[in-house]
Amino acid sequence: MSKPAYKRILLKLSGEALMGDGEYGIAPAVIRRLADEIREVRGLGVEVALVIGGGNIFRGAGLAAEGMDRVTGDHMGMLATVINALALQDALERKGVFTRVMSAIKINQVCEDYIRRRAIRHLEKGRVVVFAAGTGNPFFTTDSAASLRAIEVGADLMLKATKVDGVYTSDPMKDADARRYDKLTYDDVLDQRLNVMDATAIVLCRDHNMRIMVFDMTQPGALVQACCGENVGTIVERD
Ligand code: UDP
Repeated sequence: MSKPAYKRILLKLSGEALMGDGEYGIAPAVIRRLADEIREVRGLGVEVALVIGGGNIFRGAGLAAEGMDRVTGDHMGMLATVINALALQDALERKGVFTRVMSAIKINQVCEDYIRRRAIRHLEKGRVVVFAAGTGNPFFTTDSAASLRAIEVGADLMLKATKVDGVYTSDPMKDADARRYDKLTYDDVLDQRLNVMDATAIVLCRDHNMRIMVFDMTQPGALVQACCGENVGTIVERD
């Protein structure tokens, strides 16, 4: 049996990761597969926290571009992440994985409020914790929320799931000569404006030495491999 390399991880999933081939919303088959992978990681004994985005439903910037007030749009985006978190919780619990959704915005008839010490207790008890509603503030992203929560709960690794298996010198979809980086520093990402996460999220990780692995969650088994210490994408860390 594989041995885990990390005690506690935080996995950041974008809302789009739930869409599958669709253009909007949640594909049940996709969410079931994600739940299977997360269950496997729990089976190794790794404590799992999740941050889920909302881009498959609403993004504040997109709504603002259509003329909506930006803060209202961001509130809608944060509520979209709560919808996704509830769907993930349901899929995980159907597979026997005890899960708690904790929201940064008070909405405690549908899920718990985010309370750091309670979140850590859930993790210690082996429950998967899904952090919803981002940071609870407009003008932030769920990538920043993922960095923040990973640091707050003391995760050993933050896994950033994307559709590409790491960070490349240029877009591998367009450039056949694109090379994948095995490792980068936070400043490489910032200076070269590499498309990993927004700068706020990277700076938080840099300042608190949170190791990031960018990987392709659509590859079956990649999450387990990553949790067992394999570099299945690109690692961003200190020199
Ligand atoms: N959002 C926000 N504050 C946060 C996190 C998210 O206002 O701390 C809003 C913002 O409008 C964002 C939307 O929620 O566009 C969905 O999050 P995000 O775009 O990060 O989702 P993803 O791209 O990961 O699916």
